[in-house]
Amino acid sequence: ATPVGVLALQGDFREHADVLRTLGATVELVRRPEELARVGGLVIPGGESSVMDKLARMFDLFDPLQSAVRAGMPVYGTCAGLIMLADTVLDGMKGQQSIGGLDIEVRRNAFGSQNESFETDLQVASLGDAPVHAAFIRAPVVERVGPLATSLATLSDGRCVAVEQGNLLGTSFHPEMTGEYRFHEYFLQKVASAAFRR
Ligand code: GLN
Repeated sequence: ATPVGVLALQGDFREHADVLRTLGATVELVRRPEELARVGGLVIPGGESSVMDKLARMFDLFDPLQSAVRAGMPVYGTCAGLIMLADTVLDGMKGQQSIGGLDIEVRRNAFGSQNESFETDLQVASLGDAPVHAAFIRAPVVERVGPLATSLATLSDGRCVAVEQGNLLGTSFHPEMTGEYRFHEYFLQKVASAAFRR
């Protein structure tokens, strides 16, 4: 079977690889363009988006990532990965770029110092009735959902923390840390049914 990639430049890529393997996927850690060229889908993990962005450019992965997203490769970004997929990043580091693809505005580190990390239960209609137990760690928030993107989940105050747009899926939080596998399952379904072929 075509492997599924996890961008392994930085961040919690091992946790994502473990979840994907538990779900039966063959996983390829992606650090080079040749590795990206082998995968049928990609998870971009949490970490630090400004560092990931720098490393992606240093490793000549930025442009191939952007091309793959535009060619319809299924990509799931969590936290820093969501920031990487956002068309617009607010409060980015100087010179920080994003791959883009999601018609959203995302604010980095949106939850302030006294609430940098927290866990909460979210209702995600497309994943069924059981709530999603979500861990937020210096998490971004989606401040604007453009017409091409769809919000999948909001906090009790109405702020959006999960989005989908065609081949792309993004969450502010870290399902790979709370034993929540449904987002990865949903992503693997996208990979299986994607028109995108290598
Ligand atoms: N604050 C980080 C960033 O700006 C994201 C944190 C995370 O991925 N857990 O990239």
